[in-house]
Amino acid sequence: MSDLRELYQQVILDHNKKPRNFRAMDPCDHEADGFNPLCGDKVHIYVELDGDRIADVSFQGEGCAISTAAASMMTQAIKGKTVEEAKTIFDIYQHMVMGEGNAEIEQIGKLAIFEGVREFPMRVKCATLAWHTFKAALEGGNDAATTE
Ligand code: ZN
Repeated sequence: MSDLRELYQQVILDHNKKPRNFRAMDPCDHEADGFNPLCGDKVHIYVELDGDRIADVSFQGEGCAISTAAASMMTQAIKGKTVEEAKTIFDIYQHMVMGEGNAEIEQIGKLAIFEGVREFPMRVKCATLAWHTFKAALEGGNDAATTE
């Protein structure tokens, strides 16, 4: 087993056991539900903005270890960033987990750990559910985000 894969598993297990920013935020500026029917993952994302900056972001939900760890690490990665910066991180992250092109993964810090997901196409939706839901929350629709 490669070091990266071992690290990947450790990080996923750690975040699954102790998800960061796992709490409801009430009131908050934006929120949305997300659902990944393929795996049964459910997530609810809360976003508090300060102008264009993400002042706070949190989540609740239940799902597999990858979806929980991905949501937990997303909140850490985007808190304090601007909305545009967060969307750029999501673009790179999405390309990375889908194995498309040369994703600039040095720009996304710890999230690069999810590169291993590309070897498991079934898990790509688990790893991106929270991100799609975050985007849906910002766009303000009341429809639930789904990975389909
Ligand atoms: Zn899942």
